[in-house]
Amino acid sequence: MITPRTCIATVCLSGTLPEKLEAIASVGFDGVEIFENDLLTFDGSPADVRRIAADLGLSIDIFQPFRDFEAMPEPQRRRNLDRAERKFDVMQALGTDLVLVCSNTLLTSLDDPARAAADLAEMAERAAARGLRVGFEALAWGRHTRSWGQAWDIVRRADHPALGLIVDSFHTLSLGDDPSGIANVPAEKLFFVQLADAPKLSMDVLSWSRHHRNFPGQGQLDVPGFVHAVMASGYTGPLSLEIFNDDFRAAPARLTARDARRSLALLADEAGIAVLPPLPEFDGIEFLEFAVDEPARADLAAYLETMGFHRAGRHKSKDVDLYRQGRVNFVLNAEPDSAASWHFQLHGPSVCAIALRVDDTARALDRAAALFCPNWEEPAAAGERSIPGVRTPDGTLVLLVAPDPSGRSLYDADFDLLPLPADPGSFTGIDHLAQALPTGRMDGFVLFWRAVFGFQPEPVFEIPDPYGLIRSRAMISRDGTVRLPLNISESRETATGRFVSAYAGAGVQHIAFACDAIQPTIASLEASGATLLPIPENYYDDLAARHGLDDETLEALREHNLLYDADANGTFTHAFTETYEDRFFFEICARQGYRGFGAVNAAVRLAVQSQRRMPAY
Ligand code: MG
Repeated sequence: MITPRTCIATVCLSGTLPEKLEAIASVGFDGVEIFENDLLTFDGSPADVRRIAADLGLSIDIFQPFRDFEAMPEPQRRRNLDRAERKFDVMQALGTDLVLVCSNTLLTSLDDPARAAADLAEMAERAAARGLRVGFEALAWGRHTRSWGQAWDIVRRADHPALGLIVDSFHTLSLGDDPSGIANVPAEKLFFVQLADAPKLSMDVLSWSRHHRNFPGQGQLDVPGFVHAVMASGYTGPLSLEIFNDDFRAAPARLTARDARRSLALLADEAGIAVLPPLPEFDGIEFLEFAVDEPARADLAAYLETMGFHRAGRHKSKDVDLYRQGRVNFVLNAEPDSAASWHFQLHGPSVCAIALRVDDTARALDRAAALFCPNWEEPAAAGERSIPGVRTPDGTLVLLVAPDPSGRSLYDADFDLLPLPADPGSFTGIDHLAQALPTGRMDGFVLFWRAVFGFQPEPVFEIPDPYGLIRSRAMISRDGTVRLPLNISESRETATGRFVSAYAGAGVQHIAFACDAIQPTIASLEASGATLLPIPENYYDDLAARHGLDDETLEALREHNLLYDADANGTFTHAFTETYEDRFFFEICARQGYRGFGAVNAAVRLAVQSQRRMPAY
C-alpha cells in the first residue's frame, strides 16, 4: 500500500504566509500549495518563501491559480502567454515546477477545445524549456470547461509531456459528476489531486466553493470514493487539501492544520489506502468529572443534593468526592496541581472530563494517536486505577474506562465508599450531554468525534433563542449509547453565546438524565428542593392542539412543568432545572423509542431561561 504525500494549500489557514507555513509544518505535512494571494501580500521575495519552507522541511508542490488563460482571441492570447512567462519566473524563484491553470471563466473565451488544447500546449512548451510543468483543472463554474472529463479531453488533444490533468473533488462532486473514470487516466498524466468536502447546500456553485468547503469527513460529499478512483489510476503524487472556508480563515491556524491532518488520516482509511486501528465499542457515560475548589465544591454539592444526589465516597488519596444519583456518577475534583485544577483556574466550576465506557482502551488510544490526538494520563497512586484519555479540541478530557477483568469497579478500587442512603435516586444514566462551542468551531468538533470515536453527525437544527439563533448538531455513537448535541451561536447574547463568554471557551453546558418514570422522579426531586424551570401556560394550549393529548395527560404535564414531543418512533417527556451560575443546567427526561432531543421545545426553554435572568418587573 502506498502512503501518499500530504499537502495543503496556504489558503486553508488564517495568518500571514510565514504563520501559515509554520502551522502546516508543525503537524507534519510534507508539502504546500502556495496560493498566489498569500504571496502577493507577503512582505518578502519568492526566494524568501522558498527558504522559509525549506527551513521548515516543507516542499512547495505547486503554485496556484493561473486564471483565464486558454482559448482567448487575440490580442489577449499573446498577452496571456507573456503573463505565463512572468509566473514561470515566480515559480523558479519559489523552487516549484508545477503551476495550476484553472479553466477560463471569461465570457469572451472561445468555445473551442482544439484551440484550448493548442494554447495549453504552447504554454507547456514554454514551461518545459525551463524544466517546469503545467496542470489543467476544470472549474465547476468554468465558461466552457466544467468537468474533469472535458479538461482531460483538452489535455489529451494537446498531447504535451509537460501538460497534465489536475482533479479537485469539490469541482467534480459539487456538479454530481462521476469521478470513477479518473481511474483510467494514465498516472503520468495526472499531475496533482486536490481534495475538499462540503455540506450539501442549494446555492450557486461559486459561492458554495468559495465559502463553504470543508475538510473531508466534515461535509457530505463522497470524497473517499473520489480518492479511490484517483488511486486506482496508479497516481503516486500528493493528496492536497484545498479549502476555502470563512470559519477556517478566522480560526487559529494550528488548530485548523491539526484538523487537516486528522481529516487526511481518516480519509486514507475510508478510501482503503491506509488502515487505522478499529473503533472502540461504547457503552454509555461512566462518569462526569467537575473541576472545583473547596468553596465551589460545597456550593455545587448543595445544588446536586437538590437533584437527589448523595455523597457516595471519598477518594483514597486525592481531594476528590464521588456523588451519585441512581446509576449516574459525578466526581467533584478539588485536587491541587491536577488537570482538574488547571481547568478550574481557566473556566471556574465546570465539567473537565467525560468518562466513556469502552470495550478496549488500548485500541481506542491507538486510534486516537493515529489521528493526531496525543494520549493523556494523570499519575495514579499504587493500587489505584489509572484512567487514560484524550483531549477534545476545547481541552475537555475524554477518559476511557474499560471493564476490569477482576470485575471490581473503579469506585471500589479508588474510593472509600459510604453506605447507600434510603433513597439512592432513580436516574438510569446520562441520556445526552450538550456542549456549547465557540463560533466557527463546529466542523472541528464534528471531525474529532467522527474520526476518533466514529460518532455519526445528525442533521443541523436551528433553534431560536430570544437573542439570536443557536445551531445544534448531535454526534451519536454508532450503538446509540452516547449522544452529544453540539451547540453554536454567532450571537453573544443567546444562552450558548453567554455560556461561551462566561466559561471562557467551549464545554458541557447541559446534562440530561434518563429515568424510567418521569412523574414520580420529578415529584421526588421537587421534594428534595430542586427548582424546575416554570413552563408558560401557552405552551400547553399549543401542545394539546399539536399532539391531541387528553386532558388528564396534559394536566399531569402542566403540574410538573414537563415538556413533551413525539416522533414516528415514540415519545419524549422532559423538564429542566434553573441554570447553575449561568454555566450549566440539568434536564430530566424519559425516552420511549423517540430518537431526537425535543428540539421543538428548546425555544420555549431558552425563552424562559432568559426571562429568569431578567429582574422582575
Ligand atoms: Mg482546486
